[in-house]
Amino acid sequence: LARTTADHFKLLLRNEPPRQLYARLEEMANKVNRFNWDPGCKDSYWLQIRGGVCVVRDPGQSITILRDQANLARKKVQLSAGNQLFACEFYAPKDQHTMLLDRDIFNQLDAALEAGRIRMYLQPKVDLATGETLGAEALTRWLDEDGAVLYTPAQFIPVLERHGTVVKLDGYLFEQACRRLRRWLDEGRRPVPISVNFSRAHLRQPDVLGGYQRVQQQYGIPPELLEIELTETMIGEDIAYFTHLVQAIHAKGFRCALDDFGSGYSSMTMLKDVPVDTVKLDRSFFLMDQEDAVLCRRAWDIIESVIALAKKLGIATVAEGIEDQAQVRRLRACGCDSVQGYVFSKPVPPEEFEQNYL
Ligand code: C2E
Ligand code: MG
Ligand code: MG
Repeated sequence: LARTTADHFKLLLRNEPPRQLYARLEEMANKVNRFNWDPGCKDSYWLQIRGGVCVVRDPGQSITILRDQANLARKKVQLSAGNQLFACEFYAPKDQHTMLLDRDIFNQLDAALEAGRIRMYLQPKVDLATGETLGAEALTRWLDEDGAVLYTPAQFIPVLERHGTVVKLDGYLFEQACRRLRRWLDEGRRPVPISVNFSRAHLRQPDVLGGYQRVQQQYGIPPELLEIELTETMIGEDIAYFTHLVQAIHAKGFRCALDDFGSGYSSMTMLKDVPVDTVKLDRSFFLMDQEDAVLCRRAWDIIESVIALAKKLGIATVAEGIEDQAQVRRLRACGCDSVQGYVFSKPVPPEEFEQNYL
């Protein structure tokens, strides 16, 4: 056993099957925390322990490499907030690739922003009653020199979130949205609201909304043309904070949507307590096995009820990720307000959006 730096320790253990090894480490973590159970312990202090395991397959391998690989495995560990005291991950060769991609993405962000290779695409939200475009969501695309998509948001947003730089990206998109709205206003087009996504990394930043407001005022955009999308998973259990955030967004005059509704577990509480203007029903609601009539009916019963409930609460509904017309018809019949999905359009460059949907 060695302590290398700060609160990092290295253990060399006999090679055992992973499950046994995991149990052994977990037991150690429990022992470390045992003082909390001591009757004389007045202030409990729980230590969350993350482990990374690198199984030694080649005894000739250098200790430096083994150590780096164990570290890489440790960085994969996601401890749930609150009471999870221990978790550990095992090194796999593909982690090396992930780390390199991670580093590339992180290192290239500034240059890509500078070179204008990070773009705002727009995807229309279509009003189911009138067929008109009700608004658009701004979604980011990272393009290569030839204009082809280099990284999808699923690839680069998590990396930027880990580094905290996603805040910069979100701010950039917000400004792009304002700039585009300014153009529409100047050209005398009927402007539709643009919504932007708000990453969890913002929660640690003071006065982000103040910054957003300054940009909105600088471009002279009516704030109700801007909407911020929050996801329930970004806040976790802290509904009070979420409510506060939504109120702060409204205080600046922006609208607020609850994104990916139904993908987490606290959805109903959210509806009860959080005064959002819009809920976006997650795509997972609509991924149903068409062959299974019973499950299909249940899924639609839930969708209908959620839409009815939102209506009762005065919250607008957007169904996300809709790909087929039959679902559009059904949603219209249920009273869903709008649809954002490939059935109408993929996210497209703003020029294309203007041409086809404004
Ligand atoms: P989201 O905010 O829920 O955005 C909707 C996602 O669903 C988009 O994926 C969109 O392209 C996709 N989608 C829309 N209609 C359909 C459909 O009919 N079928 C399928 N299969 N997919 C559909 P995208 O653009 O890849 O973005 C994924 C996620 O990345 C977004 O989910 C959002 O959470 C995040 N994201 C994208 N841009 C930004 C950004 O600028 N900032 C932050 N913080 N997050 C972003
Ligand atoms: Mg969104
Ligand atoms: Mg969504």
